Amino acid sequence: MEVKIAAVGGYSEVGKNMSAVKVGDEVVIMDMGFYLPVIVDYEEEGNDRSLLSADQMRKMGAVPDDTIISSWKNNIKAIACSHAHLDHTGAVPYLAPKYHAPVIGTPFTIEVLRNMIHSEGLEMRNKYIPINVGSSYKVSKNIKVEFINITHSTPQTAIIAVHTKEGVIVYTNDFKFDNDPIVGKKPDFERLKQLGKEERVLAVIVDSLYSGAAQKTPSERVAREMLKDVMLGTENNNNPMIVTCFASHIARLRSIIDFGHKLNRKVVLLGRSMQKYASAAEKVNIVKYSKEAEIVANADKIKKKLVRMEKEGMNSYLIVCTGGQGEPNSVLNKMLNKIYPFYFNQEDTMIFSNRIIPVEPNITNRAKMEEKLRKFGVRIYRDIHVSGHGSREDIRDLINIVNPEHVIPSHGHHKLTSPCAQLAEEMGFKRRSEIHEVHNGQTMTLQ
Ligand SMILES: [Zn+2]
Repeated sequence: MEVKIAAVGGYSEVGKNMSAVKVGDEVVIMDMGFYLPVIVDYEEEGNDRSLLSADQMRKMGAVPDDTIISSWKNNIKAIACSHAHLDHTGAVPYLAPKYHAPVIGTPFTIEVLRNMIHSEGLEMRNKYIPINVGSSYKVSKNIKVEFINITHSTPQTAIIAVHTKEGVIVYTNDFKFDNDPIVGKKPDFERLKQLGKEERVLAVIVDSLYSGAAQKTPSERVAREMLKDVMLGTENNNNPMIVTCFASHIARLRSIIDFGHKLNRKVVLLGRSMQKYASAAEKVNIVKYSKEAEIVANADKIKKKLVRMEKEGMNSYLIVCTGGQGEPNSVLNKMLNKIYPFYFNQEDTMIFSNRIIPVEPNITNRAKMEEKLRKFGVRIYRDIHVSGHGSREDIRDLINIVNPEHVIPSHGHHKLTSPCAQLAEEMGFKRRSEIHEVHNGQTMTLQ
């Protein structure tokens, strides 16, 4: 039986990840993500994205162009989501309803997806199938989808192994090898090694975002130490302190809350996305941040809370919010622009526990933000962060472990993914016949 892989999205940009595997007349889709910069731009112009149809979203490039698999439409057996990040799940409510297939994800991923659909007033009739990492789901007589535990920057991320009669296709968007992930378990190296040894692994689709970085991506433990150094090791005890991080980074929040408590500060998580991810993590028993911190989501309540904090003394609090990408709608930006009643002063501490995703409009927005902070004389700590994506040497380990016949670099445009192809060549794979450098819209047949 012929095995085909369609590179639907995420092969020509960083975002809107979507791939599909076809074996015989059965298809499994992996991920349906947003291209976030387009969404940010659109909303920045004052538009409401909830009014857009799936077709409009596709035409503006916000969701993957799934017309390349339209002839497979009636063959889709399952849509498997690797993790909760929007560039992997954001397009599910827009694209999944076209297919008569269930959406499979870990409990956390499904919970985040449900929250998103609910809060945006969307509707989706597809069946949800939550499965834990370390287990599998039989989607048909011939195909089984397995979730293997892997570390990343959001909980319950899975490497997806699609088991077919012709062999296994291993999908690793996104992954890092972290032996000390702070929240959650280490990668399931045992299972990956078993696959490589005992099964015929036809192909691995590789998260190649940092394949150009000659290193092993540092553990989340390193980010925790960096935070500790800045939060506990500087002369900032009597000044307000604000930390931003991705709301979906539950492990990072773990460290931030811990050090906030070490400083004897009350921790306050501000904003809707903080609330969304914290409550999803709580619902599936990963953490219980609502017991350790106050979480304020609603804009009016945030305003009232900030007024109360100002009265009580801002220095007895640690504010945690989003805004590290300079997002105009973020809590931090609203604090800076006095939409929220917060008054920055000389030597307040601002910690960015993230790295700017190097695309427009993020670069410009964040630069504007820092300029404003600098005018107030705020102490800025940038890049208190480690990545959630594996680097070149992690990718080498991955390929050696799963021992595939074909390597398919993904998660970025050619410039980002070509170091992965070069590495595979160095490891003995042949260009074109075994290493497939593809772009969005291309379909390959594995021989
Ligand atoms: Zn991710």
